[in-house]
Amino acid sequence: MGAAGSTLRVPDPATFDVPDAALVAAQRAVDRGLCPECFGRLLGRLGHGLTNPQRAAVLRERLGGSLPPLTQPCSVCGGLFDRLPIWVERAVRAAEGYEWHRFTCGSRWDAELLAREEALWIEVGTEWGESIRSAFNRELGKLVEARSGAVGGPERPDLVLLADLPVGRVELTVQPLYVQGRYRKLDRSLPQTRWPCRRCRGRGCDACGGTGKTYPTSVEELVAAPLLTATGAEGTRFHGMGREDIDARMLGDGRPFVLELLRPRKRTVDLGAATQDVLKGSGGRVEVRNLRSADAHDVERVKEASPEKSYRIGVLGGVPVAKVNETLELVVGRAIAQRTPTRVAHRRSDRVRSRRIVAARLVDANEGRFTLDVRTEAGTYVKEWVEGDGGRTDPSLAGLLGTALRVEFLDVMEIHDSEAM
Ligand SMILES: [Zn+2]
Ligand SMILES: [Zn+2]
Repeated sequence: MGAAGSTLRVPDPATFDVPDAALVAAQRAVDRGLCPECFGRLLGRLGHGLTNPQRAAVLRERLGGSLPPLTQPCSVCGGLFDRLPIWVERAVRAAEGYEWHRFTCGSRWDAELLAREEALWIEVGTEWGESIRSAFNRELGKLVEARSGAVGGPERPDLVLLADLPVGRVELTVQPLYVQGRYRKLDRSLPQTRWPCRRCRGRGCDACGGTGKTYPTSVEELVAAPLLTATGAEGTRFHGMGREDIDARMLGDGRPFVLELLRPRKRTVDLGAATQDVLKGSGGRVEVRNLRSADAHDVERVKEASPEKSYRIGVLGGVPVAKVNETLELVVGRAIAQRTPTRVAHRRSDRVRSRRIVAARLVDANEGRFTLDVRTEAGTYVKEWVEGDGGRTDPSLAGLLGTALRVEFLDVMEIHDSEAM
C-alpha cells in the first residue's frame, strides 16, 4: 500500500530542474565508477521525490546517455545498495521473537568509506549531495516497512535496528514498554521498590537468607509480576511520584507511577487482567488503578511533579483537645524550617528546607492519643513536623504544644497531582 502510494507521488522527471553547475558536477562524476544510487545521490538534494536511481537516469539522459555501465563494484558503496535485501533479512531476523509496530533504522560505518564520499563531493564540485548514511537508513527503512508491516521513523520506536556494516550484522535494541497508573498500598511492611540487601548489595548472603533483598517483596515487584509474565520482559524500573515510608499505607486514589518493562517480547497486554492479577498476586496488599500505556515523557512528568499531599496521622501524646485545635490554627499556612532528618541523612544532603502546612484538623482524640488530617507542600517531612526531630524541624507540633509526641501510624490519603481522579 505504502509502496504503491509513493510511486504515484513521483514527479514527472521532465520537471526535474537541474542547475548548470549541478550538471557540470554530474558530468565530472560520469567516469568515477559509480552505481546509479551513488551517482544520483551526488545531486540528492535536487529533484525532490525522485529516488536516486531515477535521478541518475534523468541526469544520464541530460548528459547524452554517457554514464558507462560498471565493470567492477561501485567506487563509493562497493555494491552496498544492491545488497539491501540481505540487510532487510538480517534486520527481520534480529527482531524475531519480538512484537514490534514501530522501528528506527540506523547504521554504523567504516569512517574511511564516509570520507571517500565527502572527498568525491569536493572533487566533482557538488553542493547538493546526500550522505550515504542517511540514504542507506532511509532505503533500508522503506524495505523493512514493506517486509514487516511495521512503521519506520524516529518517533517512539519499539525497536532500533542498527546495521553494523563493517561487521555484517544487525544489532537490535528493544525499547522499554511503559505502563502507567496509580497504586494503593494497604500494607505497612512494603517498600515501594526492590530493596537490595545492604550487606551483600543483592548478591545474597546469610543476613538476607540468600535473597539479596532486605524486604521479601515490594510494590514494584508485586505490580510488575503479572506484566513480566504477560510481556516476557527481562526486568523492570519503577518510577513513583515520590514515595511513602515503608510503614505508611498509600490510600485514596493512590500514587501515580510509571513501570518500565525492559526488553519486552510482547507489547499488546490485557491491562484489565493485569489489574486483577496484581490484587490477587499481592494477596490484597497492593491495588492498581487506571493502568494505561505511557512513554518516556511520562517518566519525566512523574519524576518532576511536586504535588501537595494529604495524610492521616495517629499521634501518641496526652494533650487537651482545645489546645490541639488552637495550635493547628496557628500552624496552617505558616512556614516551617526542616533540616534534613537524621533518618534520611545518609542519602540526602544536609540542609534546611522551608515547607508549609496547607491544612490541618483534628479528627478525634482519646486516652493519650489523637488523630490528625494534614495537607502539606511537597517534600514536607510529616513525621518530623509532628515529633520535632530533636529540634531539626522548627516549629514542630510537639514544640508548639510543649510536650513530647510520637507518630503511631501514618497513611498517605491523597496525592494532589493534576491528573487526580
Ligand atoms: Zn554505489
Ligand atoms: Zn544479603
